[in-house]
Amino acid sequence: MDVSVPPQPHPDLDSASFWTATAEGRLELCRCTACERWHQPPLERCRECDAATSFIPISGTGTLRSFIVVRHPAVPGYLEELPYVVGLVDLDEQEGLRLPGRLLDVDLEKLSGGERVSAEIVPLPGGDFHVAAFRILPA
Ligand SMILES: [Zn+2]
Repeated sequence: MDVSVPPQPHPDLDSASFWTATAEGRLELCRCTACERWHQPPLERCRECDAATSFIPISGTGTLRSFIVVRHPAVPGYLEELPYVVGLVDLDEQEGLRLPGRLLDVDLEKLSGGERVSAEIVPLPGGDFHVAAFRILPA
C-alpha cells in the first residue's frame, strides 16, 4: 500500500455521474426530476415520490455543521498536510443535504463550526478523480 495516496472512489451506477461532473470541474448532486428533492448519497429513484433522478449542479455553498481535526495518519494520504480538517457541510440547497470534504487553508485556532463555506473541486492524489473541498468564506 502506498501510504501517500488516499483511498480512491469506486463509482457505481448511482454515483458515476457525480464523478464525471467533478472530473469536469462541476459539483453536481442527485435530484428528483419530479418533486425536486435532493438525495445524497445518490439514488436511482426518489425516496419521496419514486420518480427518476438526475444530477444537477449545486451552488457549493453551505454551513460547516461539524468537523474533525486529523492529527495522526489514520488513513493513507495527505500525510504532508497533517494536521488537516475534514468537515461536514450543510448545503444551502436543502435542509439535511450534507457533503463531507477537507477544509482548505484553515486556521485551526479560529475554527469553531457554523462558518459559511464554499466548495471547490480539487484533484484527488493518486488517480484521475476530483473531489469537493471547502474554503471558509470571509465573515
Ligand atoms: Zn421526488
